Amino acid sequence: MEIFPHIHQIASMVADRNLYQYLFVGDNTVLLDTGASYTPKEVILPFLKQLGVPPSQLTMAINTHADADHHGGNDLLKEAVAEMLLACGDLDRKIIEDPDLLFASRYDQWIDQHGIGLGLNPEASAWVRKMVGKPRRIDLTFTGGEHISIDSERSLRVLHVPGHSDGHLALYDSMNRAVFVGDALHGAYCPNALGEPSLPPAYYSVAPYLATLQAMEELPIDWIYSGHWPVFHASQVSDFLTECRQFVEKASLLVLKALESHLDDGVTMQLCIDECGPILGTWPEHNRWLLMYPMYGHLVHIEQQGLTSRIENEGKTRWKLKGGEI
Ligand SMILES: [Zn+2]
Repeated sequence: MEIFPHIHQIASMVADRNLYQYLFVGDNTVLLDTGASYTPKEVILPFLKQLGVPPSQLTMAINTHADADHHGGNDLLKEAVAEMLLACGDLDRKIIEDPDLLFASRYDQWIDQHGIGLGLNPEASAWVRKMVGKPRRIDLTFTGGEHISIDSERSLRVLHVPGHSDGHLALYDSMNRAVFVGDALHGAYCPNALGEPSLPPAYYSVAPYLATLQAMEELPIDWIYSGHWPVFHASQVSDFLTECRQFVEKASLLVLKALESHLDDGVTMQLCIDECGPILGTWPEHNRWLLMYPMYGHLVHIEQQGLTSRIENEGKTRWKLKGGEI
């Protein structure tokens, strides 16, 4: 779908959710996100064909961040368009290039210490493995602040928007006052294609996420386009940013409350998921474990303020409020 002159949204699905890539056509033709391993063949290349854009016209494909549904198509797309450059955020490069490292440091990193992670569900793990595709080298990385020329009139500014991943990128189009954010902004949930809650928000570093929200609030934005969320326009932009902030505030308070009501023995990540989850949202129960990201984020954020101590105990890390009160 052409959303602005020469800018297209490429739509497909991942599980019950929408999945979008964006194509900026010009002297330099840039693709934002490559989807899952099968997306180039099934969706992106047929889309280019229909548009009459030869794949060899693709100058660059940029991954907004490290995740199977956003960079899994790298290998297949590079195979199809050898001269195209693959790019991503500098801090996400290593885990994008190496699927084993992606699993070890992003999906399964808390299994040993906290007993939660994708690897505990072999079926889901195998599904994500399939989506992530083969290892493929990244050609160049961005740290934010770069400009990418599309033609003599149009360019995109690269933004560094961490929180969901350390090297997460967004593209800002000043001509249309539009920002293309991948999964940088989570609102109160990630919706399914019908708009109902499907997944909990998945930011895991709280301070960088809040800085990302602030940066978005300060940018002149009329449109937000993302990887899975509906488009936000005009007053919906500030409403959505407010929703993002309110979820962070609510989650932070609920984790503190959980710590307060377990002064003696402290809390585990699982306990926070069980106690805070039902109040935080109404996504399907089988997706509740994904609250591991914000719960971990908030527990560490509170720890960084010196309010808790961490107790390591046979694969079940606990956090305990110091001095018993806040
Ligand atoms: Zn995603």
